[in-house]
Amino acid sequence: MTDFIPAARPIIGEEERAAVDRVLLSGMVAQGPEVASFESEFSAHFVDGRPTVAVNSGTAGLHLGLLAAGVGPGDEVIVPSFTFAATANSVALTGATPVFADIEPETFTLDPAAVEAAITGRTRGILPVHLYGHPARMEELSALATRRGVELYEDAAQAHGAAIGQRPVGTFGAMAMFSLYPTKNMTSGEGGMVVLADAETARQVRLLRNQGMERQYENEVIGFNARMTDIHAAIGRVQLTKVDAWTAARRANAAFLDAHLRGVVVPHVAADATHVYHQYTIRVPEDRDGLVRALKEEYSVGSGVYYPIPNHRLPSLASFAPDLELPETERAAREVLSLPVHPSLTQDHLDRIVHAVNTLAAAGS
Ligand SMILES: *Cc1c(COP(=O)(O)O)cnc(C)c1O
Repeated sequence: MTDFIPAARPIIGEEERAAVDRVLLSGMVAQGPEVASFESEFSAHFVDGRPTVAVNSGTAGLHLGLLAAGVGPGDEVIVPSFTFAATANSVALTGATPVFADIEPETFTLDPAAVEAAITGRTRGILPVHLYGHPARMEELSALATRRGVELYEDAAQAHGAAIGQRPVGTFGAMAMFSLYPTKNMTSGEGGMVVLADAETARQVRLLRNQGMERQYENEVIGFNARMTDIHAAIGRVQLTKVDAWTAARRANAAFLDAHLRGVVVPHVAADATHVYHQYTIRVPEDRDGLVRALKEEYSVGSGVYYPIPNHRLPSLASFAPDLELPETERAAREVLSLPVHPSLTQDHLDRIVHAVNTLAAAGS
């Protein structure tokens, strides 16, 4: 009777299909002119023209970006534990140690005081995550990084277009990464963009992306194959022309939910912050998992828990942080629930989400 409302839904239209066809017909599908155009268009659109390098995933982007920034064995990089595992994985893959710091409860992003307490003589940098599309406290973290002589990086995987005042995320750090995975605010199928503060580090990322080569068969360093294809870049270039309208729709959907939800804690937006609502994440202090089930079974409303297990409790990463306690991280992992906010929601969908959450929240309290 009622259609199921999914938690996320990538939008891929006729224009994307035509762009792929154009590349396929050209016969040149590997990294080429589409990738170069996508890099410069993405850079102009989101990061004020900073040097930008396309790679085949966001994770590869963080990994190569950290390597190019000089992160390696013996270094520590401070990260949140309340994020997708790719953040800490990328640090660990360089041979450095991820050091987990707690988040602030309002925005779920790194708490600058917790970061400062985690700095040691081995700290090389700080890697905040603009979680759910809300910018981390970049002004405080930037001042802290300068004062303590460490670098600042950015995991902007979920935050295309987010800003603090007039300054977009991706322009605060020495290195920043945007993901282009299908559920992110825009996609190229798979892909990532690495943004660098200077041209020389960007050249290092380009070398690492392509077996260490700038000129064919003159390999300068030991590198990876992390190239983006022209097929993916062509999809991304079309999405770039649509992403602002999608972000506006996400923000309008969030404003409607803010105005109408009752009995739950709606997302906080810091003064001066532009939130791009990759996720619309509420807190449900009692029986969150019961609410997930009831939304799905009784109201056909999808929802998601990002993320149920803090990184420092994962089998893969726990050895970096034995006995660590991060109270706000653990509380968030128990309480968060992301409701659909994606641009393809209709007014009927929004009304149904509000009705379902309000009815269940009232029954539960
Ligand atoms: C999606 C995501 C990544 C990884 O990006 P991929 O393109 O999936 O490799 C890294 N960090 C965060 C916070 C993410 O959400």
